[in-house]
Amino acid sequence: MAYSLDSLLIHGGIDGDKVTGAVNVPIYQTSTYKQSELGVNTGWEYSRTGNPTRAALEKLIADLEGGEFGLAFASGLAAIHTVLSLFQAGDRIIISDNIYGGTFRILDKVFKPLGLQYVITDTTDAAKIEAAIDSNTKAIYIETPANPLLSVTDIAETAKIARKAGALLIVDNTFLTPYLQRPLTLGADIVVHSGTKYLGGHSDTISGLVALRDAKIAERLYFLQNAIGGVLSPFDSFLTIRGIKTLGVRMDRHVANATKIAEWLQQSGYVKKVYYPGLPSDPGYAVQKKQADGPGAMISFVLKDEFDYRAFFRNLRLITLAESLGGVESLVCHPASMTHASIPADIRQKTGIVDELIRFSVGIENVDDLIEDLRGAIEASRR
Ligand SMILES: *Cc1c(COP(=O)(O)O)cnc(C)c1O
Repeated sequence: MAYSLDSLLIHGGIDGDKVTGAVNVPIYQTSTYKQSELGVNTGWEYSRTGNPTRAALEKLIADLEGGEFGLAFASGLAAIHTVLSLFQAGDRIIISDNIYGGTFRILDKVFKPLGLQYVITDTTDAAKIEAAIDSNTKAIYIETPANPLLSVTDIAETAKIARKAGALLIVDNTFLTPYLQRPLTLGADIVVHSGTKYLGGHSDTISGLVALRDAKIAERLYFLQNAIGGVLSPFDSFLTIRGIKTLGVRMDRHVANATKIAEWLQQSGYVKKVYYPGLPSDPGYAVQKKQADGPGAMISFVLKDEFDYRAFFRNLRLITLAESLGGVESLVCHPASMTHASIPADIRQKTGIVDELIRFSVGIENVDDLIEDLRGAIEASRR
């Protein structure tokens, strides 16, 4: 019988330990494995190549995303590095115009000097993607909702365009997780994650994950994972598995809190603009509703000019000013100087990542406490 996602979160992948009956997969804290004679081992050789705790997480992310293959890395960017290593000098990748700053940085500062081209386009508009495609285009790389403006790209439609062009569709699914959105089932070829965020869920681990269906691409990725070596440690694999067990209940609360806060912000009179695909007024609302089971819990907003955003950050009590997102605790950040500082100022302005933009990762605290904290900090920031 095929289990529902709620059950897979807890029992998917490798469920417990067959040898001892331990209900949790043990932390196999070992670098190497005994060979009984030359060339004869138990299937495990060396922990960069494979480790049972990491393998349990890799199987789990594959199950959750509706994929066949999973890979776990030491960070989201290590995962992205390995996926981008599928391409060669002369290849071209189309990327969304708002995308995680580190993803842009690795493309611009690491892969571009090696000859891999990228072109930035508004992927919420299918015609613009089609216009950006040329004979060297090997991939379309999107986030949806994207970081930090929460713009929504139609995954199924983009997958069709990619297939027609003979290009891969790569989706960074960090913001929604497979609990809310499963890009492989909508036609994407590769899903990447920063497991650091909602999957780990407790702001205590850095990890990256990949899931896919195609055996040939998977074989190449396993080769690259071992060859480049940015693998996730056994302990961090354990922590990520542990985080995933509660993903469903956490996401339900995250989304409920975020929905209430986005609605409050919108009618508060404090803001010029709220970006949240769960608001019916948001341009991404319809596509979001069609392709995902919820809008997630990332909100971005711009305060009216009578409020000073620096003072707002200073006056928060419960909500923490910090990089990262997706943990149980509420975090705010200033994309222009923090997560997206690596994107040139002119590109930031053009795409809407203005200096006044505030990004809010809504945690699972009491929602009224969060609203009171926002109200207090905004009032205290009045010029
Ligand atoms: C954080 C993040 C990454 C990078 O992941 P790390 O685990 O920090 O390396 C990639 N994509 C998105 C959408 C992110 O939020």
